[in-house]
Amino acid sequence: MLITCQMGRLRNDLALPDRLDLLGSPLDDYFRQGSQVDRAAPAIDLRFDTSRQDHSLLPSGEPTTTQSLNAQLELLTGVDRRERGPVSTIGVIFADFHELNVHGHDDRPIFGAMFDVGFAPAHPNIVDSERFWGQPRNGCAVFLKAIAEHRKGEAFDREVLFTTIHELGHVFNLWHLPGTKSFMSSADSFGSNGPPPEEKEYFRFLNGQDPAHQTPFLSRCGDSDFVTPGGSKYGKRGPDGPPGDSAELPLSRARSTSTSETVRLKIDPSKRDFWHFEPIELDIKVSAKKKGSVARIPDAIDPAYESFAIFIDQPDGTRVRYRPTRYLCPHGQMLRIKHGRPFRRDITIFGQSGGYTFNMPGEHTIQAQLRVSKNQTAFSNTVRIVVRPPSRKSGQFRKLEHILTSQDCAINLFYRAAPRDARKRRCLVEAYRNLAGTYGGAYMKYSLAHSLAKLAHVAQRRARAGLISQARELLKACAQSDHLGEIRRRKSLEIDVAIQP
Ligand SMILES: [Zn+2]
Repeated sequence: MLITCQMGRLRNDLALPDRLDLLGSPLDDYFRQGSQVDRAAPAIDLRFDTSRQDHSLLPSGEPTTTQSLNAQLELLTGVDRRERGPVSTIGVIFADFHELNVHGHDDRPIFGAMFDVGFAPAHPNIVDSERFWGQPRNGCAVFLKAIAEHRKGEAFDREVLFTTIHELGHVFNLWHLPGTKSFMSSADSFGSNGPPPEEKEYFRFLNGQDPAHQTPFLSRCGDSDFVTPGGSKYGKRGPDGPPGDSAELPLSRARSTSTSETVRLKIDPSKRDFWHFEPIELDIKVSAKKKGSVARIPDAIDPAYESFAIFIDQPDGTRVRYRPTRYLCPHGQMLRIKHGRPFRRDITIFGQSGGYTFNMPGEHTIQAQLRVSKNQTAFSNTVRIVVRPPSRKSGQFRKLEHILTSQDCAINLFYRAAPRDARKRRCLVEAYRNLAGTYGGAYMKYSLAHSLAKLAHVAQRRARAGLISQARELLKACAQSDHLGEIRRRKSLEIDVAIQP
């Protein structure tokens, strides 16, 4: 299948790789070889095209976020994401830093990311919100400045192209193969110089009898929607995937594993009784079990990583895994958790890839799982939540629904990315004022504060002071808000300190 791969850049000061050539072979050769079984013709014929490289330029002053990358990807490929089904054009965006690295996690370098279907609120009359972001797996991003901080000279060039092939592998729905030597072995198997050039085995897709090997899977590109970009959502591989593999399976069943002896995982939703469009956070606490101990676990407590999963039992008895809007690759950094000093964070769960998470009114249970080592998993407590049915007779319901499901509000609550347009930002201010004193109003204020802080980070000097003072005012109010809970009150104080001019 002929697939055009548009390559673009996100910012003016970034350059595409000079040569699309890794260890003496053009990148497309690796895909041709990797998708060829026996004497059949290769299933993937990738044509790299740089003629639209500036279509993906982000206006200066706009931060790199999952949402902005998604939007620029659409401009780069020229493919309308509302159209469904397999595509023959995909994109790679060369960007600066992943948003997680800009905002305080610099010790956890993220070199690449792959996009699945994004989040957008459904129009009340359209049940399936996927019409907003209909296509999974149509592109990826490579973070050049993050790579430059960790790899120099030739190691930089090699890592950029290796990461490009690895992320494109995910676009074709490939899974990680930890502990093997291939493009899909994860970054945590390399030393500080990245994939070693003298070991050629790293620079290939595995093709052998082992059912986990990936060339037979890639060879189905064009025939199978589980492989072809734009087809099934990431991780849904159906009968074409390796046996026992499923992105939907609890980690305990995905591989034999026992309960973690070192850490305890606790979850607590920010509200236990809510309408599906209310901004719900899941507070996560990971603590070391043994007195005086220090637990070391992968620094990957986020649904974007394979090793962390949130399972939801729905009222109709089905169990689903929470679907992130982006996938991140393991990076090998570890978290050290001292006994008595737990790790805490919150995760936004009201929305997910494709739309709202809790579409069915009624009782749900939620449990999180964190794979802490090859054969140990931490299982959290199980919490019960109730999703209220719509009550259209209630004035409060109608007001909340009207405001919180509007595209700008919902997207700000989920992605914490403020519109660049100051007029639209004023609408968000008006909206939270309208909801003053309520749970929804408090979270709107909190996300707006976050997103203004992000904007201030990249804003031109003239605009920065205004954004910072607006963010600080909101953060001060958030630090006092009873609706927000301890984690977010503390975070508000931390962000406030971080953005001091
Ligand atoms: Zn990966």
